[in-house]
Amino acid sequence: LFLTFEGPEGAGKSTQVGLLKGWLEANGHAVLSTREPGGTELGRGIRQLVLHQAAMSPEAEYLLYSADRAEHARAVIQPGLREGKVVLCDRWLDSSLAYQGYGRGLSLEWLRQVARGAIADLWPACTFLFDLPPEVGLARFEGRDRLEREPLAFHQRVRQGYLELAQAEPERFVVLDATQPLEALQAAVRTKLASLLSQ
Ligand code: C5P
Repeated sequence: LFLTFEGPEGAGKSTQVGLLKGWLEANGHAVLSTREPGGTELGRGIRQLVLHQAAMSPEAEYLLYSADRAEHARAVIQPGLREGKVVLCDRWLDSSLAYQGYGRGLSLEWLRQVARGAIADLWPACTFLFDLPPEVGLARFEGRDRLEREPLAFHQRVRQGYLELAQAEPERFVVLDATQPLEALQAAVRTKLASLLSQ
């Protein structure tokens, strides 16, 4: 079972992934939790490049994220799934569609075309979108990386993009209001997981 977690920084994704992992393990599931960019050694180098180096073209940025994803898919996620683990991945292709597509204005068609080769057919069974007004998320993490220095309008396009992606695939996405207390968010995530695991 491959599950992804999406949304802006400051939405509490990594906290929720950590809590969910503990709960699944307590219920007898083998779990692999990972994230991108940076889920492999190559990926950690790429993360450093895309988040902390000087500005780059949106196309180059996307191809770096794709390289990270290609390696992550083959070196980490596929092996985890083959071992029967529940794989929890903090960010996946939807991050690129939202940030490089809606945010930077690259064509979604081109992004999807490149992704077909990169992601080794790893389409999540379910994607949790932690939706949050950008002002709220940014206030929690001011100036941590290159992306957070983007104008508010960029982050608003990203949020809108995520919501459009979720609307286009309601059977895959679960949209959660990330301004809720973390216990309420975790309860909603667990309810969905319980139903997925009983299928
Ligand atoms: O939340 P996380 O630490 O994974 O995000 C790292 C940074 O990478 C964030 O600033 C996020 O906006 C950015 N990012 C991006 N495009 C992606 C994935 C992440 O701009 N495809």
